[in-house]
Amino acid sequence: MFLNWLKEAKHVVVFTGAGMSTESGLPDFRSSLTGLWTKKDPRHYASTEAMKYHREDFVSFYQMRIENLLKHQPHTGHEILARWEKEGIIQSIITQNVDGFHQRAGSKNVIELHGTLRTIRCEICGKEYPNVRFLQPEGTQCTECNGFVRPSVVLFGESLPLEAIRKAEKEAYKADLFIVLGSSLQVYPANQYPLLAKQKGARLVIVNMEETEMDEYADLVIHGEKIGDWLRAIEGERLV
Ligand code: NAD
Repeated sequence: MFLNWLKEAKHVVVFTGAGMSTESGLPDFRSSLTGLWTKKDPRHYASTEAMKYHREDFVSFYQMRIENLLKHQPHTGHEILARWEKEGIIQSIITQNVDGFHQRAGSKNVIELHGTLRTIRCEICGKEYPNVRFLQPEGTQCTECNGFVRPSVVLFGESLPLEAIRKAEKEAYKADLFIVLGSSLQVYPANQYPLLAKQKGARLVIVNMEETEMDEYADLVIHGEKIGDWLRAIEGERLV
């Protein structure tokens, strides 16, 4: 059924969350046993208050995530999506992920709703640096203005980048097939795009290990299967 939908559709949008990259070795936030937020309080580590009032914890949390990112690679699932874009099967990816793995796998039309951990930037003058600098002594000090250099991600308490919001909205409107991969769909406003697409008439497919709050709106829900395995199976079927 899904493969037919994929073949029929004219504008396919994929929406990914942290579950997309767990098979690469990056933990997500909300998986019931392994998610980062089962051990840590997000407000204490990843918010604007954390950056201001718990700077040491804030810095070591993001150092840990950058180290992790540098140690791991995109997996076959990311590569399949990149191939689908090249072949015109999917048109865009809207992602909540900050790991840059879609781009590393070769995807071009990627909308990053929550910024990126591939770079860090000065809070004062905006100068950008590669993320490895965050791991070095003095790495959080700007060479231009001595300002604090922070990860280029959207923290709790910050708004989403306007351009990304606009592009994501446009894509959700245009979609006739909208595929969610690995998101608990709990984070607002990102979790509104699947609903927007559905309201505009798209078929909605949700592939997520655990239940999500949006499952009831979906035309197809896949639980208990890893995204990489699911994508490999679809790709196998497509290529026979
Ligand atoms: P989330 O942690 O809330 O939910 C992830 C979901 O993916 C879970 O419901 C889990 O059941 C499912 N999942 C995990 N591994 C899976 C797999 N192999 N196959 C199928 N499903 C799987 O993630 P979210 O909805 O993206 O939450 C949003 C926040 O997490 C975003 O702000 C994002 O920036 C941040 N985040 C990003 C990364 C990353 O960039 N890799 C990592 C951790 C957190």
